[in-house]
Amino acid sequence: MSGKGPAGIAVRILTLGCAKNSVDAEVLTGLLVKAGCRIVSRSPADVGIVNTCGFIRDAKEESIGEILAMAREKERGRIRRLVVAGCLAKRYREELPGALPEVDLFVGPGDIPALPGLLRGLFAGAQPRSFVGTAALPEEAYRHRYREKGEASAYLKIQEGCDHRCAYCTIPDIRGPLASRDRDSLLAEVRMLVRRGAREINLVGQDITSYGAERGEKRGLARLVRALCAIRGIRWVRLLYLYPGRIDDELIDLVAEGGKVCRYLDIPVQHIDARVLAGMGRRYGPDEVWALLARLRERVPGIFLRTSLIVGFPGESAAAFDRLLRFVHESRWDYLGVFPYSREEGTPACAMERQVGEAVKRERARRVQDAQIDILAARNAGMVGEEVEVLVEEARGDGRAVGRHRGQAPEVDGNVLLSGTGASPGRFCRARVTGARAWDLLAKPVDTGYSPGILP
Ligand code: SF4
Repeated sequence: MSGKGPAGIAVRILTLGCAKNSVDAEVLTGLLVKAGCRIVSRSPADVGIVNTCGFIRDAKEESIGEILAMAREKERGRIRRLVVAGCLAKRYREELPGALPEVDLFVGPGDIPALPGLLRGLFAGAQPRSFVGTAALPEEAYRHRYREKGEASAYLKIQEGCDHRCAYCTIPDIRGPLASRDRDSLLAEVRMLVRRGAREINLVGQDITSYGAERGEKRGLARLVRALCAIRGIRWVRLLYLYPGRIDDELIDLVAEGGKVCRYLDIPVQHIDARVLAGMGRRYGPDEVWALLARLRERVPGIFLRTSLIVGFPGESAAAFDRLLRFVHESRWDYLGVFPYSREEGTPACAMERQVGEAVKRERARRVQDAQIDILAARNAGMVGEEVEVLVEEARGDGRAVGRHRGQAPEVDGNVLLSGTGASPGRFCRARVTGARAWDLLAKPVDTGYSPGILP
């Protein structure tokens, strides 16, 4: 700890929320390292930064909990200055400074590039506590994205904000209107990620199918993915967060071609009842969802599909929920996340009548989860005997390792538990599935020599 920052100061960053926020945290880390800061994983530290999430109640409560935990560390002298960044800081920029006097500085998601200079001011004492301005991170900030060497899986945030304005969603107010990132800058970022060891690139945004739409681009996502696949060294390209009503034939062909593009799509449909979908402001109906599922499964046999559902949206009757539960049973998504509707001030749905009680919401979410557990267990059991390509992510000693196959996205879809392998993290191996658990697969390598490593 030396002088009045930022060079040489120790900074601890805690990131919450979605993959987009973790990309922001890597940009933040890179900017601080460039300014001479030391990044530490735990206290003591000169500065503690909580990079928050703020879009629904549970996420807000988690963020506040972590801020207060850091504030207690500050009281005990284990950190000297406390900074709150991210979506909560943006969404409640008026309220938070008064509500959290323990916090020395609030910065919004788009203000990260100013942070090194603001840290200097923090130790000089004389500066405003709240520095929350623009929504989107400037493009050049991504050039400083920090990556540990050898991390094989990376998220690529291809856009900021969203133009859909679904009735329950706060993201357009927090992250602003759709702002698609510059293609060349994205390709340069991916080359950097590959040099740092990335072999899997997971495309994320609020709705990646709208990439380039605000600047009048047609087929923007498909063209970006083709350009990405031409980059030497990438093995897997995964598409996450696709708006159901915007998945066209070209995109399906791209996934069907296989190659580097994983036969995997994450398509949040949110519900299946026509009236509930209309109330949500989703621009598709049940027939479009069923037609899309049929087209995908016919054109891409064996495709892995993930979705998200919201239960308890205002006006969701018992009959509408029964339709949703039947949909879960009949549509058989491989992976499914279900969320009780979170009433968020400032959204159209917040003022809607026929709000559903918390206990009913939780009960409906539990019933959907129970149904999905059986579906995933059956899906996994059906893979026993299959040979899969596995990206090894963690070695656990005595020949055991943890990885994922192409049909498993990072963090959310379970893992492949390998035994009898010498493959090290960041390498691929071919393995035969020997068993299935509710969430994970068990497998043994069939060709440990196999590792594509650097690929054309
Ligand atoms: S598409 Fe997603 S991010 Fe955009 S408004 Fe709807 S729910 Fe929110």
